[in-house]
Amino acid sequence: MRDLHNFPRVSLAHLPTPLEDAPRLSAALGGPRILIKRDDLTGLALGGNKVRKLELLLADALAQGADTVLTTGAVDSNHCRVTAAAAARLGLRCVLVLAARHEAPPLQGNLLLDRLFGAEVHLFPAPVPTAGNNRLLELTAAVRARGGKPYMFPAGGSTALGVLGYALTVEELLGQLAARHLTADYLVVASGTGGTHAGLLLGTTLFSPSFTTLAVNVIEADNVALSERTRAVYTEGAALLGLPENSARPAFTVRAGYVGGGYGVLSPGGAEAIRLLARTEGILLDPVYTGKAMAGLIDLVRTGELAADKTVIFLHTGGAPALFTQADTLAQQAALVSH
Ligand SMILES: *Cc1c(COP(=O)(O)O)cnc(C)c1O
Repeated sequence: MRDLHNFPRVSLAHLPTPLEDAPRLSAALGGPRILIKRDDLTGLALGGNKVRKLELLLADALAQGADTVLTTGAVDSNHCRVTAAAAARLGLRCVLVLAARHEAPPLQGNLLLDRLFGAEVHLFPAPVPTAGNNRLLELTAAVRARGGKPYMFPAGGSTALGVLGYALTVEELLGQLAARHLTADYLVVASGTGGTHAGLLLGTTLFSPSFTTLAVNVIEADNVALSERTRAVYTEGAALLGLPENSARPAFTVRAGYVGGGYGVLSPGGAEAIRLLARTEGILLDPVYTGKAMAGLIDLVRTGELAADKTVIFLHTGGAPALFTQADTLAQQAALVSH
């Protein structure tokens, strides 16, 4: 078996990220003790969960002598924004294929930042983040044809290698909990491509934490495709690590019912969660991922599944730039102006 710590990484993230108590949120919900793992504060270019994956992916890109990184996502992709920033920092060219609902999306949020970091942006008309995969392959071939050395990774950086960053996060969290003599019962996280969840589950196999991971589906109303993707990335990651074939795979728990009108569309529950976190803890959530994951957490507190005697960790995966691309909808749904 390979040692997780021996995979090369480039240092991009500020680690460990803080693990903070959210007492005013707990009180407002009359619910469990809530701790927030602040991966929104990973540091690089407004942070978020994708930075941990990039530490492994870009170390591999550099080891292979790449001069250009290519990836894809939705037009407001946090993953693409931090890839563009990391590429700038490492002196690599960056090519992004971005799926956009509208032909001329406003230069705001993550798209603005992609341009600022000097990425070559290819807009692709589609509502889903993975729709640009074929275009990505064409552009990768084009880089090779002009004598460049491309390194390509899919939406979310969710490859077997990338997601090992989240196996390491489990170890980081366990150290932080132990230092405070705490144990946690649940960890709640937003799941999009499933990579972060898969990485956390690899960490669960390796480090046997006390908590169960609950992934909130922010992509679709049912869990079939997301569970399948998560399982596939988990299996590839396990093979990369050389985990024994008979090692028990942890339970996959994906919760549906919180995506609202669809991926990227602010939901009423999401708007409520964004407003509540802002006003109880001074913490920014986002309309696409963390607002909906927190809406799931709030709902599970209200239904009694996350009981008052439990300790729950919310993994804050970032995403705040999308607050500004959805400012009007947010102001309306969260009734910001009347208060
Ligand atoms: C990408 C992203 C996620 C989901 O991570 P996956 O590994 O794609 O499941 C969650 N939150 C934010 C803010 C993200 O940008």
